[in-house]
Amino acid sequence: MAITHNLGFPRIGAKRELKFALESYWKGQSSREELKTAGAHLRRQHWQDQAGLNFVPAGDFSFYDQMLDMSFTFGNLPERVRNFEGDSLDNFFRVARGRSAKSAESETCGCGGVAAGEMTKWFDTNYHFIVPEFDAQTAFKLDPSRLVEQLAEARAQGVPAKPVIIGPVTYLILGKSKDETNKLSLLPGLLLVYRQLLKELAAQGVEWVQIDEPILVTELEAPWQDAFQTAYQTLNTGAVKLLLTTYFGQLKENLPLVAKLPVQGVHLDAINARDEVEVLIEKLPANRVVSLGVINGRNIWKTDLSATLDWLEPISRQLGERLWLAPSCSLLHVPVDLESEEKLDPEIKSWLAFARQKLDELLILSVALNEGRAVVQRELDANAAATASRRHSPRVHNPTVQAALGKIDARLGERQSPYPERAKKQRPRLKLPLFPTTTIGSFPQTREIRQTRSAFKKGKLNATAYREAMRKEIAQCVWQQERLGLDVLVHGEPERNDMVEYFGEQLEGYAFSEFGWVQSYGSRCVKPPILFGDISRPKPMTVEWITYAQSLTDKPMKGMLTGPVTILNWSFVRDDQPRSVSCRQLALAIREEVLDLEKVGIRIIQIDEAALREGLPLRRSQWQEYLDWAVEAFRITGNGVADETQIHTHMCYSEFNDIIASIATMDADVITIETSRSDMELLDVFDHFKYPNEMGPGVYDIHSPNIPTVEHMVTLMQKAAERIPVERLWVNPDCGLKTRQWTEVIPSLTHMVEAAQALREQL
Ligand code: GLN
Ligand code: ZN
Repeated sequence: MAITHNLGFPRIGAKRELKFALESYWKGQSSREELKTAGAHLRRQHWQDQAGLNFVPAGDFSFYDQMLDMSFTFGNLPERVRNFEGDSLDNFFRVARGRSAKSAESETCGCGGVAAGEMTKWFDTNYHFIVPEFDAQTAFKLDPSRLVEQLAEARAQGVPAKPVIIGPVTYLILGKSKDETNKLSLLPGLLLVYRQLLKELAAQGVEWVQIDEPILVTELEAPWQDAFQTAYQTLNTGAVKLLLTTYFGQLKENLPLVAKLPVQGVHLDAINARDEVEVLIEKLPANRVVSLGVINGRNIWKTDLSATLDWLEPISRQLGERLWLAPSCSLLHVPVDLESEEKLDPEIKSWLAFARQKLDELLILSVALNEGRAVVQRELDANAAATASRRHSPRVHNPTVQAALGKIDARLGERQSPYPERAKKQRPRLKLPLFPTTTIGSFPQTREIRQTRSAFKKGKLNATAYREAMRKEIAQCVWQQERLGLDVLVHGEPERNDMVEYFGEQLEGYAFSEFGWVQSYGSRCVKPPILFGDISRPKPMTVEWITYAQSLTDKPMKGMLTGPVTILNWSFVRDDQPRSVSCRQLALAIREEVLDLEKVGIRIIQIDEAALREGLPLRRSQWQEYLDWAVEAFRITGNGVADETQIHTHMCYSEFNDIIASIATMDADVITIETSRSDMELLDVFDHFKYPNEMGPGVYDIHSPNIPTVEHMVTLMQKAAERIPVERLWVNPDCGLKTRQWTEVIPSLTHMVEAAQALREQL
């Protein structure tokens, strides 16, 4: 009898109820009690959604973040909030959002990054957690109240709860030492509170505890491998049974370590690490539970149930009661309910499964294993029909695209001449001064712009009226830039609500959900587009807007595109072909747009790759392979132009240490990056590498409402000039300006232009 369970359920709510409850509380529009009630209500709903499973998670619900929950459970509060006298939920929010006015905005601009050290990406997902802080004063003190209360709720509702906690080693490794404190030295103290916690859970009648150690899918240094031994020997008290839970990848060299740890069960991500299942079973002592994550918790596709059963049946016969089945990871990373989608194309919808549907699949699998396939034949047939329709659909498979892909050769990504020769041809055509000024693309997305776009989307505004309204915005934006004296202009992106969605909507092979929200952090969600088929571009996507903008000025107007790697990394992607193949298809489609822009006389084209770095695999040993195909995709996209056309790229971060060689291989004529908060020291990498092309290190932080001073920007650029020759330096902000107000943008850019002027005069 295979046992079913779940590792975690999305907490935001099918209609983002948690988001609205949180934001209303933060604005003072509802009481703390109302918020807590909303939380309890969601937990009840989510437990009902998981009914039928043998174990359901408890403690996976959070008002903000599960790592921060752990920090509070262990009394590991940063010094600055330790003496807070109010309600602890308010203190929780102070840690979560305290210094994060900036971060809230950096997410809306799509920059991913938030104020350093506070929030960071949870492994390779788009979820961000609050980084635990450690220092010499760190002392742990157990507060089990959150878990105890949620367990009591579960008990009252008759829910077979399995508490979920993050394991000590993952917690320590992902935390940050604020002074020189060695995190390993904190392990013994931390283990004491873990032991107390497990004891407390046992007292609550808990049998199994899910203890998440996803860090096991990454490369671990020897002391941390030892820490695993120490930790689990200490925690193996017999008070409760521990299910050591790993996900997001393969265990590889950590597999023998995992097999040896004294826990009662191990969960393995059988989507990403299917080839390790057999070895793990072989190596684990014969009394251990083996939990297999057989439903993909990272995408929105239906599982091929028959194929999964073909594979699972012998394993089930071998393991019997020792086999547990679950999604590969927490369902936090998928939307809640496909049934909410009424506008999705029915054929595409029939291929999809969100959290609720994924749990249905899990139940079907377990019934088929435990009672025979015949009992669920109808469900299996329906599933088989859906998977077959997807496998054969002409909407997924486009022979023209595949033929084009087959014809890709190295020359496609090669510029006609090397950079120095191109620069010689570009200079007379662009006639730019030294320290040319530009912006990254978007200008303030005013309420008016958003209302116009949404009225158009809802059909309340016709296409002609919409086009006129957008043209007016573009004209106004161009006029402002002319007035400000910028050298290279942009159209301002008023027609885009999102840099990926805008392109996805115009490409063949993409679908969009209405409610497919996934938590990014706190109350913020993203709705990743669904890349379901071979990608093609039926018609130009930006040419009309850009040509119009160029017609209003003699200055060079930058064509503005999102690059293939970023589009890929911010989408739900296909599971029936490698990501690299989807990326290459995107590259070919955007390449057509680049060439069309060039054809109508656009002299500069920017291809944003904001998310290139965040696509790096969890294991360093796999980085190069990713970088190779990502860079190849960029080169295919941008490098088909003539020498005279200048290609820019933009990246919203500044750590290039490990990837500088690949970045240089992209061979963009100009790269603009985020540097203002790092005092230009991060340019050292470019300096040491002797980065050969032009670059625009951001001189002001667009995440902040502060108006930068001329002096500050001049100083920053002088520092940049110590590292990069002045002939190759540009002056620009860190990122797009869409989250800012015009009242901030105008003085800031005025100062920026003055700074460039001052720099030229100094020469
Ligand atoms: N061109 C985009 C903008 O300015 C770039 C955004 C980004 O890199 N996140 O909004
Ligand atoms: Zn950016």
